[in-house]
Amino acid sequence: MDLLTSLHSQFGFSQFRSGQKEAIESVLAGNDTLAILPTGAGKSLIYQLPASLQKDKLTLVISPLIALMKDQTESLLSKGIPAAFCNSTQDELVQMKTIAQAVNGSLRVLLISPERALSPSFLKVFKEMNLFSLVVDEAHCVSQWGHDFRPEYRQLHFLRERHPSPNFPILALTATATEKVRTDVQAALGMKFPKMVLSTFFRPNLKFSVEYPNTERDKADRLFELLEPWKDDKKFAGRTIVYCATRKKTDEVFELLKDFGFTAGKYHAGRTDGIRERTQNAYTGGKVPILVATNAFGMGMDQPDVRLVVHYQVPASLEAYYQEAGRAGRDNKPADCVLFYKNADVATQAFMISKESNFKGGDSLLKHIKDYANQEKCRQVQLCEYFGESIEPCGSCDICSHSTNGKDRKDFLHAEEIKQRKKEEKRTYEFDPNEEEWILNFLAEHPGVFGKTIIAKTLAGKTTKDVLRYRMERNPFHAKLKHIPEEAIIAKLESWTEQRKILVAGSKYPKLYLPQFSPVKKRIGKEGDSESLVKKTKTPTVNSQILRELMNYRDRKSRQLKWKKFMVFQNPVLKRIAERKPRTLSELEATKGIGPAKVEKFGSEILEILEKWR
Ligand code: ADP
Ligand code: MG
Ligand code: ZN
Repeated sequence: MDLLTSLHSQFGFSQFRSGQKEAIESVLAGNDTLAILPTGAGKSLIYQLPASLQKDKLTLVISPLIALMKDQTESLLSKGIPAAFCNSTQDELVQMKTIAQAVNGSLRVLLISPERALSPSFLKVFKEMNLFSLVVDEAHCVSQWGHDFRPEYRQLHFLRERHPSPNFPILALTATATEKVRTDVQAALGMKFPKMVLSTFFRPNLKFSVEYPNTERDKADRLFELLEPWKDDKKFAGRTIVYCATRKKTDEVFELLKDFGFTAGKYHAGRTDGIRERTQNAYTGGKVPILVATNAFGMGMDQPDVRLVVHYQVPASLEAYYQEAGRAGRDNKPADCVLFYKNADVATQAFMISKESNFKGGDSLLKHIKDYANQEKCRQVQLCEYFGESIEPCGSCDICSHSTNGKDRKDFLHAEEIKQRKKEEKRTYEFDPNEEEWILNFLAEHPGVFGKTIIAKTLAGKTTKDVLRYRMERNPFHAKLKHIPEEAIIAKLESWTEQRKILVAGSKYPKLYLPQFSPVKKRIGKEGDSESLVKKTKTPTVNSQILRELMNYRDRKSRQLKWKKFMVFQNPVLKRIAERKPRTLSELEATKGIGPAKVEKFGSEILEILEKWR
């Protein structure tokens, strides 16, 4: 039977879409295949059609979301293809039955979550499955460069490694085509010279634009304008999705829309499964045409008639943006994708990304969004370029069509440029050797204790909260360079760090030190005690070598005078001396715990010791 015939008879479609046939043929020939097609392009068919042609072999599909598994199982069953799904939220007995069916050959397709697929109990029976192919849906989840990284995905190569006849083809499906994700996918799944199938990311019916609201108020006003066709349920004008970055904002926008008479639903991970499902049904069923949602909504939930996707806040990456905005106009009729770009929202995203502990590269993900919003270049050209494709300008985006918000954009970009220039100006300053000396001395005295910001603020004489918290306003170095902008000092520290004239300790809170004055740990830190540096650097510490020398001196004196050690000096007092490094007798006397008598008896010798360390 040729492929087109089964496409008609089994799936009821008249022709293949771009990329489908090529990928299907590759799988049927037994090749590992990586299909990178935009969302909605019809990737499921690529595994479903070959699976439907099998007599007794099983296609195992790894899928990240329960909702996706259910949808696809139902769709397969409706076409008469024996299918089932299995995940850890199901009753154990149900799971066992399903898996037994997969082993005994009565299923053509089994959809399973990665966690379940990697569980020891599954791996054991997996060996007995008569496998036609292994499919990894939403394969970008293996990569931390993709926008929804799932660590378990990285272990999926186990499956091929554990199977007695591992020559089945692996089919990876994703809409994320960046080079990094692509290589990650191949490596993490253990694919062998996969055949790549790619198709265009250009969406001719979508009109992309970016707007630059100044305030939250402006955003709300603009959203109401955009939603005019849906106002008072005037007419059913298709659907719309308003994406927010946080649950809080989702709640807020939802309330706002309700107050102004829109019929809207909201969807985010903070709601119960039941409510979420009901919201989703109301939306897909057309009762609620507007959905306010976080990125928890969407994967695989495509409705054909979404006419508008608004991003009320910037998403975490350009891939996420493309996927979310790309839910518009699936029916190939015109639709709009509007991104509200505000610097504060970029900061919010940066913060959220940094909170996700095992997530690297967040900055660079956001940088692409910034570029997207800030470049005077066709939006679709930019999006396609990002996915590694070059196209002609689309002719319809805000840039191509010189649309009305062009003035806003120019204003915004102009303001940005001025801000940037001012920042740069502040950073450029010619230090004379004397001024540089102050910075170096600071580092010599506080090795590995402070990060660049505190150092710069202290020297520049700032009294901001963080400066006060470390009591740096009392530090002898405070305001020594108060004629120099703090930005310039930071720039200096950064350039020295680059030249390795300054070294950095710690990655989460990087502290600076000079190579010739390394932090506490190297000199007296207990051997093998890797924590000691961390502990020591939590609060401003003393130069431990000075402290050690002062203690030796104190011990010597106590022997000579036959005094108890504490009668000469107590440890905390020595610490304070080492910290403050007084230069004169009166400075020494100002140290807490030292009276005039002590100063007279020991003062000059102590100053001598300190002098050596300057
Ligand atoms: P993806 O996984 O690439 O986002 P899906 O596999 O979910 O896309 O398919 C999106 C929609 O396209 C589904 O409704 C599917 O039935 C439909 N579709 C897939 N292939 C074809 C085709 N050849 N002709 C018409 N519709 C198709
Ligand atoms: Mg899909
Ligand atoms: Zn364009």
